[in-house]
Amino acid sequence: MAEASSGEGPVFDLLCQLIARKSLTPDDAGCCDLLESRLAPLGFSFERIDAEGVTNLWATLGSGAPLMILAGHTDVVPTGPLDQWISDPFVPSVREGVLYGRGAADMKSGIAAMVCAVERVLAAGPLRGTLAFLITSDEEGMARHGTRHVVDVLRQRGVKPDYAIVGEASSNEILGDRIVVGRRGSLGCNLRVLGKQGHVAYPHKGDNPVHRLIPALAELVATQWDNGNEHFPPTSFQISNFHSGTGANNVIPGEADVVFNFRYCTESSAESLKARVHAVLDRHCPSYEADWWHTGEPFLTSHGELIGAAVASITELTGGTPEFFTGGGTSDARFIAPWGAQTVEIGPINDSIHKLNEHVKIEDLAALSRIYEGVLLRLLG
Ligand SMILES: [Zn+2]
Repeated sequence: MAEASSGEGPVFDLLCQLIARKSLTPDDAGCCDLLESRLAPLGFSFERIDAEGVTNLWATLGSGAPLMILAGHTDVVPTGPLDQWISDPFVPSVREGVLYGRGAADMKSGIAAMVCAVERVLAAGPLRGTLAFLITSDEEGMARHGTRHVVDVLRQRGVKPDYAIVGEASSNEILGDRIVVGRRGSLGCNLRVLGKQGHVAYPHKGDNPVHRLIPALAELVATQWDNGNEHFPPTSFQISNFHSGTGANNVIPGEADVVFNFRYCTESSAESLKARVHAVLDRHCPSYEADWWHTGEPFLTSHGELIGAAVASITELTGGTPEFFTGGGTSDARFIAPWGAQTVEIGPINDSIHKLNEHVKIEDLAALSRIYEGVLLRLLG
């Protein structure tokens, strides 16, 4: 069934249809069905690589190299308090040239702009190589069964990508002023330091884990882990949680818990950071349990055809040159880049992502689609 045209253009229309589908992680809410209905007439073949309630769409057109992947996620983060939204987050609404709705920037606009770019490009003629969409409904959650799973499956089949564009909101102040060419790695730890509970009046009979932990943490906080490099800021260490104590004022606690996280650059590795942390802990804490989690390796796409095509396309459209950015949080690019694809993130302005009243400028939608079109034509035209 065709949905009504607004007169604001095809990207706007498709984006509105996507926003109206309430796709809270990991619920795709029919977004991939809608995308298939748009891509089927273009000749795409579809495979659902679903896992554990997550919808994963792998859609391909053509054959052979180069393989260009357009990647995105249909899931959105929770709305937060509904009474603080000016309009219903799942009813797209326009005010003064801006479209409001959950997912407007992160990242249903990227997906809509990609689909419309592909429609225009293919209307003008066939492309060389293979064009693919990799769409998941689990990016905002644990992201275990989304892109990571699809990459594992395709890698086992011997699929080798050349390029990937992730449609995450990368722009800073104006569309195309920034593209993401790398991301820091993320390594975290739940640390429990064990002592011996006792009476504060008899400290020799207890073993205070807080007293053991504090000098260890002071050392970790003061450590310069590396100096970064021309692409990345230095690795950072941050404590996010600290808890100890029984609540009583006369009891030495028996344990102390800390949660900390590294955002690390390519000058350090997860293994080297772990080893250095353990060396500090071993000196200060006779007994502790460290439960590490590693949610992403750092990656960096060096200057090659993809970045060249992205810069040329953006410059042609906006007249500006994008900044190459490697900060910010993680994205599914962390799974695609290590697969061997030159990977960049190009998308709308990111100032409202995950916030109340998430929005995107309507004029940016068609422009973003032109940027993707320019990259496709340069690399596959
Ligand atoms: Zn996102």
